[in-house]
Amino acid sequence: MRSLFLLLSKSRLLKEWSSRSRIAQTAAGRFVAGPTVGEAIAAIISAGTRGLTTTLDHLGENTETEEQARTAASDYVYALDCLAEAGVQSHVSVKLTQLGLAIDTAFCIENVSRVASRARDIGTFLRIDMESSAYTTRTFEVLSALRERFDNVGIVIQAYLYRSQSDVEAMISAGIPVRLCKGAYDEPPSLAYPNKADVDQNMVDLMHRLLSEEARLAGARLAMATHDEKIIEATKAFVSTHAIPKEEFEFQMLYGIRTGLQETLANDGYGVRVYVPYGTEWYPYYLRRLAERPANVWFILSNLFRN
Ligand SMILES: Cc1cc2nc3c(=O)[nH]c(=O)nc-3n(C[C@H](O)[C@H](O)[C@H](O)COP(=O)(O)OP(=O)(O)OC[C@H]3O[C@@H](n4cnc5c(N)ncnc54)[C@H](O)[C@@H]3O)c2cc1C
Repeated sequence: MRSLFLLLSKSRLLKEWSSRSRIAQTAAGRFVAGPTVGEAIAAIISAGTRGLTTTLDHLGENTETEEQARTAASDYVYALDCLAEAGVQSHVSVKLTQLGLAIDTAFCIENVSRVASRARDIGTFLRIDMESSAYTTRTFEVLSALRERFDNVGIVIQAYLYRSQSDVEAMISAGIPVRLCKGAYDEPPSLAYPNKADVDQNMVDLMHRLLSEEARLAGARLAMATHDEKIIEATKAFVSTHAIPKEEFEFQMLYGIRTGLQETLANDGYGVRVYVPYGTEWYPYYLRRLAERPANVWFILSNLFRN
């Protein structure tokens, strides 16, 4: 099921159909704040009232023309302007293929630098999401180019990739903040652990390393991006055993997923940041959410029929 949904996430035909379908839009609305930055800012404000911080994501990926990539960068700069104008604090998350990575690395650096620069102007942080393994090495190249000029930039590491252990060491050496997640793409067994249990174990091992004193002192601040209660409990246990202050790491979860758990953790004094996506290019993002939990499909279908 997971592979099927991830395959469908690449379908242009379905993407075009879904962008016109009211039913598909309603279903995706569970995971997306809305089509405009105004709706995203409303979601950010609402999260704030529940003790949650946020990272804003303007949906889009795999742009094919330079014009689309430049427009995407301008949309991000506009979103940052809107945050500043509204007096609302939020990090931002970007996908490099939205900003031209599939076109040219130098061109992508130019675009993402515009976003990083505006984020720095307004005193906020830019997280580079990690996409499929076709882009991992180039994503790290863009990251190191950016880090020469901007210290408000961090990265994502996917626990399913075998290479991630050495990438984590490189991030600790360079003192770069890391969001650690399991990984959302369809990767071959030559590159990624095929068994969920191994991915989970690697995520726990990498969490231990990123919460070590060496990593924390270096500035490789950990954001633990998961809804998996077992991994969340393992993180809480490690932090408690090693007397690590709650301010030195945070949990992150996606908009619309495990909202009760988000609030419980926040009420218990943990930092919890919600990833708030908005925009009209929701199709591949939505399909990845269905791939993570095919039960979502039945949930959606039953709700549609009920309504
Ligand atoms: C803040 C954040 C940022 C992310 N950024 C990236 C990124 O840059 N690159 C990348 O490859 N991946 C990213 N991901 C996705 C991540 O890799 C996983 O695919 C996703 O988080 C599901 O894994 P899990 O850790 O929640 O554990 P799972 O074992 O998949 O799920 C644990 C439990 O969480 C709940 N759950 C998980 N997913 C869903 C869902 N879609 N719908 C409903 N319930 C669900 C279910 O109760 C499930 O039993 C990000 C995730 C988060 C939370």
